Amino acid sequence: MAPVIESSRPPNVLSNSAVTRKALLFISALLLVLFVVASVALVHIAAQQNDQAIKQSLFYAEKAIQARQKSILAIVSDYAFWGEAYRHLHVQVDTDWAYTRQNMGPSLFPDFAYEGVFVVDANNQTAYAVVEGQLTNVEAQQWLKQDVQALVEQARAQADDEEPVVGFLQVSGWPALVAVAAFTPGGDTQVEATEGAASVLLFVDRLDPQKLQALGQDFGIDDLHVDERLGGNHDRSVLAVPTLSGELIRLSWHPAQPGDQLLYLILPLLGLVGAIVAVIAWLMLRRAIAAAREMDTSYASLYSSQSALVASEARFRDVAEAASDWIWETDAQLRLKYLSVRFQAVTGHSERAWLGRPLSEFVLCPGGLQAWLDTHGARPSAKDSLQCQYVAMDGTQRTCRLVLRHIEGSSGITGYRGIVSDITQEVEARARIEHLSLHDALTGLPNRIRMQEFLEGKLRALPTAGEPLVMLSIDLDRFKSVNDSFGHETGDLVLGEVSQRLRLVLRDGDLVARMGGDEFILVVSGISTQEEVERLCERLITGIEQPFEIDHHSIFIGASIGVAMAPADACLAEDLLRYADIALYEAKGAGRSTWCFYASEMNTRVKDRHQLENDLRQALINDELRLRLQPRYSVSGQRMVAAEALVRWQHPQRGLLSPDSFIAIAESTGLIVPLSSWVLRTACMEAMSWPEALVVSVNLSPVEFQHGRLLARVKSALEESGLPPSRLELELTESVMLDDAEGALVLMHELKSLGVRLSMDDFGTGYSSLSYLRRFPFDGLKIDRSFMADLEGSSDSQAIIKAIVGLGRALSLTVTAEGVETAAQLEVLRQCDCDEVQGYFLARPMEPAALHLLMCP
Ligand code: C2E
Ligand code: CA
Ligand code: CA
Repeated sequence: MAPVIESSRPPNVLSNSAVTRKALLFISALLLVLFVVASVALVHIAAQQNDQAIKQSLFYAEKAIQARQKSILAIVSDYAFWGEAYRHLHVQVDTDWAYTRQNMGPSLFPDFAYEGVFVVDANNQTAYAVVEGQLTNVEAQQWLKQDVQALVEQARAQADDEEPVVGFLQVSGWPALVAVAAFTPGGDTQVEATEGAASVLLFVDRLDPQKLQALGQDFGIDDLHVDERLGGNHDRSVLAVPTLSGELIRLSWHPAQPGDQLLYLILPLLGLVGAIVAVIAWLMLRRAIAAAREMDTSYASLYSSQSALVASEARFRDVAEAASDWIWETDAQLRLKYLSVRFQAVTGHSERAWLGRPLSEFVLCPGGLQAWLDTHGARPSAKDSLQCQYVAMDGTQRTCRLVLRHIEGSSGITGYRGIVSDITQEVEARARIEHLSLHDALTGLPNRIRMQEFLEGKLRALPTAGEPLVMLSIDLDRFKSVNDSFGHETGDLVLGEVSQRLRLVLRDGDLVARMGGDEFILVVSGISTQEEVERLCERLITGIEQPFEIDHHSIFIGASIGVAMAPADACLAEDLLRYADIALYEAKGAGRSTWCFYASEMNTRVKDRHQLENDLRQALINDELRLRLQPRYSVSGQRMVAAEALVRWQHPQRGLLSPDSFIAIAESTGLIVPLSSWVLRTACMEAMSWPEALVVSVNLSPVEFQHGRLLARVKSALEESGLPPSRLELELTESVMLDDAEGALVLMHELKSLGVRLSMDDFGTGYSSLSYLRRFPFDGLKIDRSFMADLEGSSDSQAIIKAIVGLGRALSLTVTAEGVETAAQLEVLRQCDCDEVQGYFLARPMEPAALHLLMCP
C-alpha cells in the first residue's frame, strides 16, 4: 500500500502568505513604535535645551543689570568723593566750574547717557541740575516726580564710608538707575571739610527701550524690555528687579530656543525618513506576500500533484477492475504476462488459460498483430488503435479495439502493454445508423445519399461508350390517386411492392434507390445497346403495371422512365441525374407508361421553359396578357349563343404566344391562379359590354381546383363586373375529377350554387367520362376537336358523335362540338343533332372589338 497523503492541507496550518503578512505587519508596528519613541525623545531633548537656554539668559540678564549698577556706582563715586567737586559744588556751587568747564556738565549725557545730574544742597534744595546735557533750574524731585529726601538722607548717612546709594526707581514710566552719593573731599587734604549736612550728587540713568535693548545685546540677550503683562511669574524669561521704593520692575526678553530649532530641523527629517521607511515596508510587504502566494500555489500544486499521483493509482485500480475494457501486458514476443481481472468477466475466458500464450492468438487483427507492429515501427502513436476480432467463451464473434504501447528497457523494447475494449455493440449500432442514414425507412432501398455515393463510385470507374452507365429515373403514374382512394397505408404497401419488383428486374452490382415519394432511380451497368435499355424499360414498366393485390383490391398503376447515360450524355453524377429527370419529364409528357432517352434538345427545352417561366411572372406584372374570344353557335338556328375566352400572351420578344406554350408552365408554377383571375375578370367585364346577353365561357385549370380559392375568385369576378352568374360558363376537364373526385364534387356544387354554368371540356379524351358525367353537376359537354378530323368519311366517328349526343340528351346536357373546320363537318353534326358548334369554319378566336362588330354588324 502506498502511504496515504492527506488530500487537503490541515485546517490549522496557515498559508505562507498569511504568515508573511503577519510577520511583516509585526515589523511595521515595531518600526512605528520606534519612530514614535524617537520623536518623543527628540521633543524631550529640545525642551531641555530650551530650558537650559532660558536659565542661561536669566543669568546673563542679571549680569547685565548688575554691570549697569556697578558702572553707575563707580562713576557716581568718582564724582562725589572728589575734593575738587566738594569745593565747587558743595561748599559753593560753581556753575562755571561744573557746567561751563565741563567738570560735571553736559558731557555726562553723551558719555554715560545719564539723563539727569542733580546736586541737592544742605537745605535739600536742588542747587545744580543738568537734564539731558542741558543746564536747567528744575528741582530734582520735580523732574523725578517723586520724593528723594529719603535717598538723600541715606546717602549722607553712608558718606563716611563713601558708599553711594544705588538702585532702581520708576521715572516717568521707565525704570531708571539712580545713584545718590553725598559729596566728600575724597581724601583731598587741601580741601577742608565743612560742618553740617553735605550736598548730595544724584545721577539718573533712565533705561528707555533702546537703552534696555542695547544693554541686553551687550550680554547676548535679545530684546530686553519691560514686561508690562500683569499676573504672576509664569514666564521663565522674566527678571524681577526690586526698586528703591520697594516695588518690582519686571524685565523680559526673547530667550534663545535651541530646542525648537532642533525640532524644526530634525522633525521633518524624521518624518521623511519615517515615510520612506513606511513606503519601503509597504513595498516589501507586497513583494513578500506575492512571493509567499507563489509559494503557496506551488506548494498547493506540489501537494495536489502528490495527491494526483495517489488518486491516479486508485483510479487505475478502479478502472482496471470496473471498466468494460481489459488491460494486458506481454513480453517482446507478445506472450501474455498480465491480464486484468476484467479479462475473464468480458471474454469469459480464464486468465490462467491465456497467460503465457501470444496475444495475437487471442485477438485476430486484420493482417496480424505482429505485421501491424512491424509496419508501425516500435512506437505506435497515440492515435493508433486496431479494430480486431476475438471469439468469446460462449462462441460469439466479438469486435474489439486494441490500443498498444511499448515497454522500453535499457536494452530496447522489452514488451508491450495496452487495453482491449469490446466495441461490438458500438460497431453494430454504428452499422445500424449507417444503414439508416443511407436507406429509405419505408422500402429499405438505398436512399438518395447512398445512390449518390454509389453513382459517384461508378462514375469514377470511368464508364465508356461500349460499357456505359445507365441511369433510369422512374416515376409512378397515378400513384397519387392510390393514396387518395385507398389511403396512405395502402400507398406505402404499394411502394414496398414496387421496390420488390424493381429489385427483381435488376442484377447484382446494379442499384435501385428511392428518391422520395413515388420516384425511384436505377443505376445499371453491363448493358451496352439502346435495345437492351429499351428491353429493360419495358420489363420494368410491365412489372409495375401488373395489378397490386392489396386488401382484396386490385390496384393498377403505371410508370414513366427517363434514361440518361454516361459518358454519352454526361459524366458528372449531378448532370446525369438532371438529364434522367428531364427525360422522365419528357416521357410523362409523351403520355405516360413509356420511357424516353435524354436528348440534348430536351435540355434546351428545359432551359427555354425556365426562361419562359421567369418571363411569365413579368407578363402578369407588365400586363402582357391578351383576351381572344371565339363564338359558339347553335346548330339549329345558326345563332351565336356564347363566346369562349381564350388567353394569349403578347411576349416582348417572342410575339403573340398561344396558351399551349405557357398554360402548362403557369400550372406548374402556380402562376395559373393570377392568370386565370385576370381572364375571369376581363372576360366577365367584356361580356358586360356586349349588346346581347350571351354566355361567356372561361377555361379553368385542374390546378385551380386544388388551391387558389376558386369559389371566392369567381364570386369576386362576377361582383366586380356585375355579370349575372347565369351568363358565365366554366369549362373544366376530366382531370379535375381524376385528381380529387370528392373535393371536385363539393366545389362544383358550390360553383353551381353561385348560379354559373359548368361544362366538361375536351370530352372523349379521358377515361371514364360517362360515370363522371352522371355524378357531376354539368350543364354541357364539349366534344374534343380530335373527333372532327375524320368525321366526314368515317361512319365510326359519326356513331361516336351520335352516342355522345344521345348521352348528353339523356343527361340534359348541351352538347357542343369543337374544332369545326368545314361545312361538311357542320353538316354531319347537324345530322347528329348536336346542339352547338365552335370552330374556325364559323369563327376564329378574335379580338373583343371584332366580336362586337360581329354581334352588331
Ligand atoms: P380548348 O379549351 O379546347 O380551347 C379551344 C382551342 O381550340 C383553342 O385553342 C382554339 O383556338 C382552338 N380552335 C377553335 N376552333 C378550332 C378549329 O376549328 N380547329 C382547330 N384546330 N382548333 C380550333 P387555343 O386558344 O390555343 O387554346 C388551347 C387551349 O388552351 C384551350 O383548349 C384551353 O384548354 C387552354 N386555354 C386557353 N385559354 C385558357 C384560359 O384562359 N385558361 C385556361 N386554364 N386554359 C386556357
Ligand atoms: Ca375550352
Ligand atoms: Ca376543348
